[in-house]
Amino acid sequence: MSKAASWSWRLAAAEVRDARHVHDGPEVVGGPAKPKDTKRWCKGKVGREHVLTVTIMSRYGLWAELVRHCSACGKEFDSCNTHWRSWRSHKPDWVTPDLLRQLQIADAKLKNTRKKSA
Ligand SMILES: [Zn+2]
Repeated sequence: MSKAASWSWRLAAAEVRDARHVHDGPEVVGGPAKPKDTKRWCKGKVGREHVLTVTIMSRYGLWAELVRHCSACGKEFDSCNTHWRSWRSHKPDWVTPDLLRQLQIADAKLKNTRKKSA
């Protein structure tokens, strides 16, 4: 359950960050507001590339997912789980056969855990 716990912590942290965005920041005086491009640049700082990492994460302890995120700012770009055939028509091209195998192992472990506790 520790992985699930750390996952919900990550969600909570993301909510805090979003809430801050609403209130924080200096008032824009003159000129159009220039939102930070955090999708293109890490933390919106132009020229700073995201540090892309793929990690296997447990979603609520129910299933495992490969999550492609930035290890510097934590932004998620894409994810893939073993059910991608049913709800997502494509397998992201960053998912290598090796990553897929690790995902299947992690998913099988989670299913085993659920069976034992049921
Ligand atoms: Zn980043």
